[in-house]
Amino acid sequence: MTARILIIEDEEPLTLLLRYNLEAEGYAVDSAVRGDEADLKLKENAPDLALIDWMLPGLSGIELIRRLRARPETQALPIIMLTARGEETERVRGLATGADDYIVKPFSVPELLARIRALLRRTKPERVAGVLEAGDIELDREKKRVARAGRDVSLGPTEFRLLEFLMENPGRVFSREQLLDRVWGRDVYIDERTVDVHVGRLRKALNRGRAVDPIRTVRGAGYALNDRFVKSP
Ligand code: CA
Repeated sequence: MTARILIIEDEEPLTLLLRYNLEAEGYAVDSAVRGDEADLKLKENAPDLALIDWMLPGLSGIELIRRLRARPETQALPIIMLTARGEETERVRGLATGADDYIVKPFSVPELLARIRALLRRTKPERVAGVLEAGDIELDREKKRVARAGRDVSLGPTEFRLLEFLMENPGRVFSREQLLDRVWGRDVYIDERTVDVHVGRLRKALNRGRAVDPIRTVRGAGYALNDRFVKSP
C-alpha cells in the first residue's frame, strides 16, 4: 500500500526536492502551488497526508487548515505545516490551528521524512507497517530484526537498511547510484562498487543453502527484490 502525500508549497525548488525524496521513499506524490487550488483538490480527493506551507498565494496555509478541519472528510487528515517562521508563539499558533506537526525551514529532508513516517504510523498504521514481509522474509523495523522462514538472520546496519529499502519498494529496479543516494545518503561519496559488496553480504546472510535468491540483479540496470518475493496486489 502506497501512502499518498499532497505537497502544498509555492517554492518550486522545494516542491521538486520533496517530490524526489518522497517518491524515492515509495510515496505517491501530488502537489499544488496555491492555497485555494489545494482546497479544491482536497475536496475532490483526500490524500493520506498533506504538507502545507504557511505562506501561500490564494489562501494562507493557516486558513486552509481551518477549512480542512471544518469538513468531515478532511477533519482527521494528517497535516504537517512547513514554515519559515520559527518563533515559538507562531509555532503554537500553527499547532493550535490544527496541524499535527510543524517543521521550520530550512529543515533537513531526512528529518521531515522521519516526521512523516511517525505521523503516518500514528494515524494510518496500515500504511507504514512496523513489520515488512516479502515471501518468507520478515523485517521488523522497530526491533531491527530480520528472519527468513522463521530463523533469525544477522545483518549489519547497511545490509539491514538495504533490505528494508528493497522491501519498501517491491518490484522496482534501482541503479547502484540510486541505492547509494537512498541507503547511504546523498552527501557521502562512495564508489558504486560498494553497493555490490553489500548486496553480496546481504545475499550471503539471507541465502544459507537456499535456492531462491530474494535479490535480483538486473544486468546493466541494478538491483530489485525478486518477483517471487513481491506480493501480488
Ligand atoms: Ca510560501
